[in-house]
Amino acid sequence: MQTVPAKTILSAYMACGWFGSHYNMNLYRGCCHGCIYCDSRSDCYHVENFDTVRAKESALETLRAELRAKRKVGIVITGSMSDSYNPFESTLKLTRGALELFTRYGFGAVVDTKSDLVTRDADVLQSIAARNAAVVNFTITTADDALCRKIEPHVCTSSARFAALRTLSAQRIRCGVLLMPLLPFVNDTEENILAIVHRAAQSGAQWIYAGDYFGVTLRQNQREYYLRALERLFPDAAVSTCRQYGQQYSCASPHSPRLMDAFTRACDDAGLLYRMDDIAAHIRRPYETQQLSLLR
Ligand code: SF4
Repeated sequence: MQTVPAKTILSAYMACGWFGSHYNMNLYRGCCHGCIYCDSRSDCYHVENFDTVRAKESALETLRAELRAKRKVGIVITGSMSDSYNPFESTLKLTRGALELFTRYGFGAVVDTKSDLVTRDADVLQSIAARNAAVVNFTITTADDALCRKIEPHVCTSSARFAALRTLSAQRIRCGVLLMPLLPFVNDTEENILAIVHRAAQSGAQWIYAGDYFGVTLRQNQREYYLRALERLFPDAAVSTCRQYGQQYSCASPHSPRLMDAFTRACDDAGLLYRMDDIAAHIRRPYETQQLSLLR
């Protein structure tokens, strides 16, 4: 596969990023899952040939040096701008290697993915969990596998992701669902949201995060890609999207307030967390208690 040079693998320290994380990590550049709505195609990120995955050169050597040099041990999140479990990972094992380094240096991991390949690394995630947080978020935007095949064409189906969630939860790895984006005029229905909440709870998820509203963001380049895909797959939705949003960046579903009410009620009924502050605290809490007890 192609490679790209990389000076760094980890971001600078954050006090509390998404899901309680302290550092962001990308071992790959680009993503081949083909999601029609992918924000990372936007011009602002300057990722050329986004749909071609490239590994970062000497990624694990660079990561090892960075972990050793960090003054603060923390939780590393991976999975934005590329999926750490792309098809090349099955043989390259860069993500697995990174998780093994986290085990060695006491760092935690938050993995955001759409791929069931993550179940391969359950043993390493369990090792991390002995000292720090180790959690997996599955992005699931539709409960309908046929629709999933259209909007996320090159990655496993939603059903396979629910099955992977169940597999990891059964091995005591804490998991959640990222329910975003929801595409206006395509899958922004109460039926879809309630089905995802129900199946997530049945599969052992502990939280679902859906952001502040249900919708999609559209920036330059991504917008054109998305509208071309809509025209091909859902012509009526393409017309409605152009009419409703024009050049807007935040495209909230016209039903977002009602959907959010239904979502929060369903999560409450199922005992699932859905506010980011609560989820982050839930992820960090067992290890903060452990560290405090060592100080007494
Ligand atoms: S998995 Fe994520 S990064 Fe990859 S194409 Fe889909 S939305 Fe983009």
